[in-house]
Amino acid sequence: MLYDLIIVGQGIAGTVLYDHLKDKFKNIVIISNTNFVDSTKVASGVYNPISLRRCVLSWKINQIMPISLSYYQKLQKEINQNIIFPLNIIKLFFNKSDLDMWKVKQNNTEVGKYIKEIYNKIDYKNLNKNLGGALISPSGYVDINLIREFFLNKMKEKNIFLNEKFDYSSLKINSSIIKYKHIQAKKIVFCEGDRGLLNPFFNEKMFNPCKGEVITIKTSKDFSLKHILSKEVFILPKKTNVFQIGSTYDRDYNSRNKTDQAKDFLIKKLDKILNLDYKVISHKSSIRPTVIDRRPIIGSHKKHQNMYIFNGFGSKSVTLVPYFAKLFSYNLSINKPMITEVNPYRFNEKLTF
Ligand SMILES: Cc1cc2nc3c(=O)[nH]c(=O)nc-3n(C[C@H](O)[C@H](O)[C@H](O)COP(=O)(O)OP(=O)(O)OC[C@H]3O[C@@H](n4cnc5c(N)ncnc54)[C@H](O)[C@@H]3O)c2cc1C
Repeated sequence: MLYDLIIVGQGIAGTVLYDHLKDKFKNIVIISNTNFVDSTKVASGVYNPISLRRCVLSWKINQIMPISLSYYQKLQKEINQNIIFPLNIIKLFFNKSDLDMWKVKQNNTEVGKYIKEIYNKIDYKNLNKNLGGALISPSGYVDINLIREFFLNKMKEKNIFLNEKFDYSSLKINSSIIKYKHIQAKKIVFCEGDRGLLNPFFNEKMFNPCKGEVITIKTSKDFSLKHILSKEVFILPKKTNVFQIGSTYDRDYNSRNKTDQAKDFLIKKLDKILNLDYKVISHKSSIRPTVIDRRPIIGSHKKHQNMYIFNGFGSKSVTLVPYFAKLFSYNLSINKPMITEVNPYRFNEKLTF
């Protein structure tokens, strides 16, 4: 059988891309190794329109966010389970000059439309320091693992999912056909997350991966949080008295494994924000597929026009992936190149930009 398309990697990128392509291409096969602890397994799933540290808009957010959020809302109805959890963020201030700066940003810049309120005091009694904060909306989190699970089951039902490590040396490609072991296809799209570094067909130097760790805590007494709190780390309410604390950003890592150092860092930052009794009930780590200019990498291979990459969603896959899956799936179906900003060959020879 000749497949229309092979997708390699079923993290959130490969999954949402599959959802956008499944009606455009009849025969798709997905190859992914479910044993890897990928970034999707570890991500908190938060979406947020603003870079909270610098109080600036995220890249193209006015265009991207409405399309991505409406995708999740539509999918939520289809899946018939909650996958999107709108939850405003409170960015906690460090000092009075923080408060003044955010007020100016709210009134005088484009960021202002996402800053719904500035508080002099926050209404949570467990805060160690109450120096006010900014209310950000729309924001919240998406259960990306539920989305992945939903589509994985569909793929298994259709018998189009191969759970194995993709072996690049078994790929034979010419301008009209791709052969991978016993599979023949017209096109192939790589969505391997940070393991895209190992893909010999695309330049590994585009990637600047970033390790991240998160912990989950359970409080010993009832503590109700109706927002995501953010101050160096975020505190994300997940279930009754259960919160996720994240994340670390480490570009200098030696292994993918979780570390006591990162756990201690998160605990220290959490204790600085809130006065709570809790125990840590889980601790996870993985690697974000970050790119040197912090933009995704989407498009075809220079020589092999039937080979594509859909990767580089860094720390913002929840917001970026549905928007770019929509754009890329359309372009792929009519053989149109992607916008230059995400083109895999946008970097110069020295791989700067
Ligand atoms: C601690 C942490 C917190 C995060 N929090 C957020 C957040 O709040 N919001 C947000 O938007 N993003 C967050 N992220 C980032 C987010 O996790 C990533 O952007 C996203 O998961 C990337 O998805 P992906 O599908 O591109 O890659 P991955 O999730 O890595 O998936 C790639 C898939 O490809 C498969 N694969 C790779 N190579 C092969 C091969 N050779 N053979 C077979 N299969 C292969 C892997 O098994 C994997 O399933 C966080 C990341 C971390 C680490």
